[in-house]
Amino acid sequence: MDLKYTRKNVYKQADGKELEKIYQFAEGYKSFLDSSKTERDAAITAKKLAEQNGFKPFSFSEKLKAGDKRYFINRHKNVFLISVGKEDIAKDGVRIMVAHVDSPRLDLKPNPMYEDSGLCYFKTHYYGGIKKYQWTAMPLALHGVVMLRGGERREICVGEDDGDPIFCITDILPHLGAEQSAKPLAKAIDGESLNAVIGALPSVDEEEEKECVKSAILKLLNKKYGFTEVDLQCSELCFVPAGKARDVGFDGALISSYGHDDKVCAYPEMKAIFDYDSPHTVVAVFADKEEVGSDGTTGMQSKVISDVIETIANSFGANPIEVRYNSKCISADVTAGYDPAFASAFEKRNTTFINCGAAVSKYTGARGKSSTNDADAEYMGWLRDIFEDNGVIWQTGELGAVDIGGGGTVAKFIANLGIDTVDVGVPVLSMHAPYELISKADVYSLYKACLAFIK
Ligand code: MN
Ligand code: MN
Repeated sequence: MDLKYTRKNVYKQADGKELEKIYQFAEGYKSFLDSSKTERDAAITAKKLAEQNGFKPFSFSEKLKAGDKRYFINRHKNVFLISVGKEDIAKDGVRIMVAHVDSPRLDLKPNPMYEDSGLCYFKTHYYGGIKKYQWTAMPLALHGVVMLRGGERREICVGEDDGDPIFCITDILPHLGAEQSAKPLAKAIDGESLNAVIGALPSVDEEEEKECVKSAILKLLNKKYGFTEVDLQCSELCFVPAGKARDVGFDGALISSYGHDDKVCAYPEMKAIFDYDSPHTVVAVFADKEEVGSDGTTGMQSKVISDVIETIANSFGANPIEVRYNSKCISADVTAGYDPAFASAFEKRNTTFINCGAAVSKYTGARGKSSTNDADAEYMGWLRDIFEDNGVIWQTGELGAVDIGGGGTVAKFIANLGIDTVDVGVPVLSMHAPYELISKADVYSLYKACLAFIK
């Protein structure tokens, strides 16, 4: 018996066969990332994969039975995958796995388009916590949907294919940037200067002196997508970093990508519910709006999760309150991995490390544990047992040192429903940057943790 606790490195513990599995799992994850940059993209990908795995559309008026596999796409942005098990729903409850599929980005403003000095731009309003300086002078892609008069939808994705143009926000050259460089980092780039260049070719068949580039772009957009400037007021378009997920390092042990937070948790949950036919009733939720507070119809503060549980309970004539009370949840979200370059932001004994497995956070929050779910010792004990019984390598830590900052997850919203919940995720470096870094070993460990949870 080990009297001392020592954190384990997943790569060091893995034999050749396990290492192969880790690298193979990462290939599937990277392709999920590339097709799931926004919550809308993720919902489309999840639906496609769910159908391939035998899941059928869910209905609130349906009577479910053991063995049923269902998917529910809430307003194009929030996904529920439901696998009905044979265990008694009243006593066993539901095994809930939650992750979010929205990531920080630059949304277009309602009136985004303007021309200045021969260049045409889209104005943006940032979504979620970003460091604004990281979004200038880099390739951006445009993703989203525009509604035309009469209810027709136009899906847009420009900047991801090799032949596509990209977009970009300019920055001042260092030669003239002395004033900017003297500012604190947070003030160096103004929110109102996050305007992306979308065109420069003036229309020639017009005599207009003013805004002839904007006119030309509008003509082009109308020809290609059928929308006019006013239709942009009924759209959800955003700029995200262009390009694909890439291996990092000579050994390819890490992955760099936009949006690991929180697709790195959604993917293992999804794989677990597809790969293992659980005796428990399992619900995997991919939420929207986590980065902005989880409000609205598609965020985790919405009643939809309760409604799904109630529908399942009613199918078996069980009391929905009893089902909720006996349910268990892992709220899967990323945490800050220890970064030696910024050592003072962490407390080394209580932080999670890259390569050291699934990251369990008993609580998140800020200052004196403010605004967090704090998982019960009893629930932590239950989880530890199932992880150890199933060979899951896991670690635990806080998000940074005390009083340095903090953060929250959706865990508290599920716990508020009377459901035992704990945060289990993946440590990330450069979290919320356009390109975040994770370890292939950690995303695979979370997959094993999810399998253990629904076993
Ligand atoms: Mn997150
Ligand atoms: Mn986040």
